Amino acid sequence: MTVSPEITARLSHIKALPAVEQALSFLERDVDRTLEEQIELAAIPAPTFHEREKALAFCDKLTAVGLEEVHLDRFVNALGVRRGKGKGQSVMVEAHMDTVFPLDTDLTPRREGSRIYMPGLNDDTSGMTSILTVIRALNEAGIETEGDLWFMGTVEEEGVGALGGMKKHMSEHKYDASISIDGAGFGTVVFNGTGLRTCEINFHSKGGHAAGAFGKVANSLYAAARCVVKIASIEVPPESGTIYCVSNFHAGNDAGINAVAADSQIKINYRSHRQEYLEELHEKIMKAAEEACAEETARWGCDTVTWDTKEYVNVPAVSQSADIELVQATVAVMKDRGIEPKLVQGGATNCTMGIYAGVPSVCIGSGGIGGGAHSLEEFFDNTDRHIATQATLLLALVMAGVKE
Ligand SMILES: [Zn+2]
Repeated sequence: MTVSPEITARLSHIKALPAVEQALSFLERDVDRTLEEQIELAAIPAPTFHEREKALAFCDKLTAVGLEEVHLDRFVNALGVRRGKGKGQSVMVEAHMDTVFPLDTDLTPRREGSRIYMPGLNDDTSGMTSILTVIRALNEAGIETEGDLWFMGTVEEEGVGALGGMKKHMSEHKYDASISIDGAGFGTVVFNGTGLRTCEINFHSKGGHAAGAFGKVANSLYAAARCVVKIASIEVPPESGTIYCVSNFHAGNDAGINAVAADSQIKINYRSHRQEYLEELHEKIMKAAEEACAEETARWGCDTVTWDTKEYVNVPAVSQSADIELVQATVAVMKDRGIEPKLVQGGATNCTMGIYAGVPSVCIGSGGIGGGAHSLEEFFDNTDRHIATQATLLLALVMAGVKE
């Protein structure tokens, strides 16, 4: 992808400023401290919906690096601002604070060579601490921006949190651009979002004795099974990231092996890069449940099988053009740091909720090397971390403008 001459010129101009040069070299020297801070923050348990303690610790860090208006918003997102001195664009830089690990998880770091094993260290405490080092670099070099730079740790990104912290915050606040930093590595640019939904469908019938009620009642388990068979034959549009998976099937219990199950449940996860395909798929799944109940009811002609559904996750599919200023600028700063950017279609990151709110948004990595995300063997390795933090700093400056 080629970058517009205007963005290229803006980046070259910013890079030529002595203060920016100073900030970039500071980032190289600040990696060890950043890693220490990362271990310190990752040691605070923060499963989704339990982020408050980590959020307060992050607020302390944001205050320590001199941000103004540091506070928790009403959703427990932790944020503060570095006010601009002109009329430039306001830029939000955020990383999520929550992890997928229960409160009682052992969060003791284990070092092996340059790797540090610690749940949550990579995803996404690395993003949180990239934010801190970038602010320190701006301070150290005395850089003032034209637009406001906001920095935030978000809640409820993972699992059933479903990007909720970002979604709620963005529904009440307006920025000109949003940069999410999520997880180790650098070079991938997420600039649109895969839609994804997860729901359960419950089937209800009277139940009864396996023999005594035979022919006299319908069977919720059969209705659930009919529904699964119908879902399994749904065709999806190719090349659109559209998938579905019935991931759970629960019916009956061990004590009831001689019983018609009164209640049965399936869980389904389904996704698409395109919102209209996701909605179409949703309709087909609901129709499958409706038809399955009707067929099971008609088969016995005795009672009526009913169904209801509960939704766990509903993230919309969103997209932006790859030609917008923010995506171009992201590509430009990556190339500038010697990284060949990879623009990916889809993704399920907080960037989705920025775009959903109408804010140009990207999600990039925090640098270093990481692996084992969402497992107890999660690790982070600080090697070449500064390349990503330098690019992030440049990106924020290109978007917000430097006050000269
Ligand atoms: Zn993450």
